[in-house]
Amino acid sequence: MQPYEKLLLENKAWAAEKLQDDPDYFNRLVHLQTPSFLWIGCSDSRVPANEITGTQPGEIFVHRNVANMVVNTDVNLLSVLDYAVNHLKVKHVIVCGHYGCGGIKAATTNTDFKPVLNMWLRNIKDVYRFHRQELDAIVDLEERTNRLTELNVQEQVFNLAKTSIIQKAWKNEQRPDLHGWVYGLNNGIIKPVFEMKTGTHIDGLYEYDDL
Ligand SMILES: [Zn+2]
Repeated sequence: MQPYEKLLLENKAWAAEKLQDDPDYFNRLVHLQTPSFLWIGCSDSRVPANEITGTQPGEIFVHRNVANMVVNTDVNLLSVLDYAVNHLKVKHVIVCGHYGCGGIKAATTNTDFKPVLNMWLRNIKDVYRFHRQELDAIVDLEERTNRLTELNVQEQVFNLAKTSIIQKAWKNEQRPDLHGWVYGLNNGIIKPVFEMKTGTHIDGLYEYDDL
């Protein structure tokens, strides 16, 4: 059997098991898409949103990319955000990074990863530069990368708050709250590192007054 065929086989077993536990399971899910949470996480295979939060299908709307970035020219991310905020009416947006992130580590090297990855990692290098003083003062390399992971999550939460999508929802519907979390691959624990309640003021330059 090919490895990918095993996935299909496992899928059949999973579906059968679900039906056995609850014959109405899929019927109910088909008519239910009202998640309260948007999760923006890393594509890393070791950080599955549902599994580590003990949530079921239908509970979290998920977007994942390398190093959980919120890039203001990323049509994919912005479409997900727009849909989650304006149509699904999520109450919380969670940016969840993780310690030991390959994307974060790569951004701290001088390696040329060639055009596309370089473009993406540049956004993380910028985060390092914003916080260079604090980061350079951390002698231990792993500790420094861990701190960059936390600061990156914080910076991506700021990036969410800079969008008119979030600002409009804050103004008109007093939601969603924004959360920055970091997951520990070594212990499975999520550490909340930053939070922005609805309506929080940011640098005035980024605040739209004609929403
Ligand atoms: Zn990662």
